Amino acid sequence: MTKKIFDPFNISDNNFEQCVKCTICTVYCPVMPVNPEFPGPKQSGPDGERLRLKDPGFFDESLKLCLNCKRCEVACPHDVKIGDIIQSARIKYSENKPKVRDMILANTDIVGTLASSLAPIVNTAVALKPVRKMMDSVLKIDHHRMFPKYSGQRFETWYRKNAKKTQGNFKKHVSYFHGCYVNYNFPQLGKDLIKIMNAAGYGVHLLNKEKCCGVALISNGLVNQATKQAKHNVKAFTESIVEKQMPVISTSSTCIFTIRDEYPHLLGVKNDEIREESELATRFLFRLIDSGELELVFKKDYKKRIAYHTPCHMEKLGWSLYSTQLIKMIPGVDFVQLDSQCCGIAGTFGFKKENYKSAQGIGQPLFNQINDTKVDFVATDCETCKWQIEMSTPSKVENPISILAEAIDVEATMKFWNK
Ligand code: SF4
Ligand code: SF4
Repeated sequence: MTKKIFDPFNISDNNFEQCVKCTICTVYCPVMPVNPEFPGPKQSGPDGERLRLKDPGFFDESLKLCLNCKRCEVACPHDVKIGDIIQSARIKYSENKPKVRDMILANTDIVGTLASSLAPIVNTAVALKPVRKMMDSVLKIDHHRMFPKYSGQRFETWYRKNAKKTQGNFKKHVSYFHGCYVNYNFPQLGKDLIKIMNAAGYGVHLLNKEKCCGVALISNGLVNQATKQAKHNVKAFTESIVEKQMPVISTSSTCIFTIRDEYPHLLGVKNDEIREESELATRFLFRLIDSGELELVFKKDYKKRIAYHTPCHMEKLGWSLYSTQLIKMIPGVDFVQLDSQCCGIAGTFGFKKENYKSAQGIGQPLFNQINDTKVDFVATDCETCKWQIEMSTPSKVENPISILAEAIDVEATMKFWNK
């Protein structure tokens, strides 16, 4: 309780003073319409911060219902860092200790390492109804929730055996932050990234022992661990970007958003030296094409109708344009832009029994739109959006990099820079 003492010199790091109480942010919050217990961005953010600075006793545990989607920040005309204010308050004042369930959901590296080594057993077990019911009653992980499958071979293992030795053959180089999903669940996305980057004339290298970006640790209150991992990752990025002059690209919008923005804003881990050279692979590729350095040549027989879903963190980054423009460059694509709205899963939020109903309620307008839009599949840059959409609609979901990898004519593209 010692931290709950009024300190007149304890000014907020966040810019709540810029709020003019226009309430626009409340219209864009996806939680408010489905959960009346959540006070909303204005009240939880700038309004609450004024009170909490006077007396931290005003902190309200209902702030945990914020998804940290940042849609309120995108809407705010005065650039108030509403999501940051709410998450910082949770970090500073919450007295709720993470439960066993939260630690399991947040420790993606440990769980991924164990689960991928026993992938066939784990995949079968978590698909069984009695196992899901047991996890529901013991751990409070909702029994409706489908888990992503684990891969028997980790991406890093595949890379060392199959790709590492040829990457030095290229004149230009990037490092790849693959993230937990690619490493433990879906190595094919990492393979697709290497296919595209090699076709574009770039060798792809792995960082010096990357760790999970920590987004799930932050949202589950394991901030010390998240900070330790953030410092490790910033060091690995610095080695690549500053020492080796190799930018770092990623295929996960949430990982790259966390590394660029949440590290300094929420964890106080400085990343000035690496931030600008850390980006999403689709943005990197788009910029190469835009500058005339690259031309992607596509197969003539690739014909698909594809709808793009904008993940919340892509909306905040303002980067969905890069992914959608790349997809639209494929001549055989009939492109559909879905309305930008939250899918509801918010990382580990939608796995929790107490949040499941809200998560599905938030995502329902998106699911309805996907169901009404007859497409071959949905494209998105976030793996948890993919899990949520695939669980809640009949549509399959692909990362834009996998779409490009399937549509590209590798030999014709390589001729462009090999001339
Ligand atoms: S949109 Fe911005 S300025 Fe308006 S109430 Fe929300 S935080 Fe305040
Ligand atoms: S970050 Fe998202 S969930 Fe949280 S207050 Fe803002 S809009 Fe609502």
